[in-house]
Amino acid sequence: MKMLSIVVPCYNEKETVSLFYEATSQVVEKMGMKYEIIFVNDGSKDSTLEECLKLYEAHKDIVKVIDFSRNFGKEGGLLAGLEYAKGDYITVMDADLQDPPSFLPVMFKTMEDKGVDIVGTRRISRKGEPPIRSFFARQFYKLINKFSDVEIVDGARDYRLMTRQVVDEILRLKEYHRFSKGIFSWVGFKTEYLEYENVERVAGETSWSFWKLLVYAIEGIIAFTVAPLRIATFFGLFISFFAFASMIFVMVRAALFGDPVSGWPSMVTIMLFLGGIQLIALGIIGEYLSKTYMEVKRRPNYIVRKIYE
Ligand code: UDP
Ligand code: MG
Repeated sequence: MKMLSIVVPCYNEKETVSLFYEATSQVVEKMGMKYEIIFVNDGSKDSTLEECLKLYEAHKDIVKVIDFSRNFGKEGGLLAGLEYAKGDYITVMDADLQDPPSFLPVMFKTMEDKGVDIVGTRRISRKGEPPIRSFFARQFYKLINKFSDVEIVDGARDYRLMTRQVVDEILRLKEYHRFSKGIFSWVGFKTEYLEYENVERVAGETSWSFWKLLVYAIEGIIAFTVAPLRIATFFGLFISFFAFASMIFVMVRAALFGDPVSGWPSMVTIMLFLGGIQLIALGIIGEYLSKTYMEVKRRPNYIVRKIYE
């Protein structure tokens, strides 16, 4: 019998893990598959671990719990879960039921009917989300798709069904700064997307502040494209060209009309402008340098305190 692994990263999800278990196991039982649910407790500050362990005690054959030594972020949790998963098919889901379990049978059917390796999901609406967040999210997808060579679908969730082969390839990417949305798409394979309306969390609160999302977006761009490094070069070329043209202009004008001393305000603005551009360029280089620095250290993405299996 084929087996399904469900990877669930959890950070402060004490209210949702048991709801998640109920809803998901109900659906999967009906599918008549062998399955495991891997809760990764990502250093929660509430009683998420205790809640997970209750489920583990009650359903030892199904529930596995990986407990981290501290909070490593969702990407670390996902990686640990994927590395641990033993199934022939693997899916990753949020604990808050924003990823409807009722999709699982549909995903399997799509996989079989269309003969694809990955069935992803994407939200076609962002209702229930602050409008300003939606706006920036849209701009992010536009930007990253324009400049990187991986296609990241707007509104694509991490929620997806993958074959063993796809996950094995994903695990070959050993980078420290993991941007899963990019990695999932970078490995390629035949992918179908199912679309659905946004669902709000059943309980608890989102742990993503606007600031965290912004940092996440910058990480995503830096991880999947070096285009920003080129911005500095283009800016430099552009400005040098104009500087050269205006130099000729100034020389000709001085030759024809003489050169009364003036123009110090324009001088200051030009200097400030150039100074600003140089700082931006340095900042961009710094972003890449810091990422390279962290990669070179080869630190693990997560540290496990204990695995309950
Ligand atoms: N999560 C995690 N570690 C973190 C932050 C979040 O494992 O540091 C988990 C969280 O428990 C949830 C999933 O990642 O299962 C998505 O988080 P959330 O629902 O807060 O994000 P949103 O759905 O608002 O994007
Ligand atoms: Mg959520």
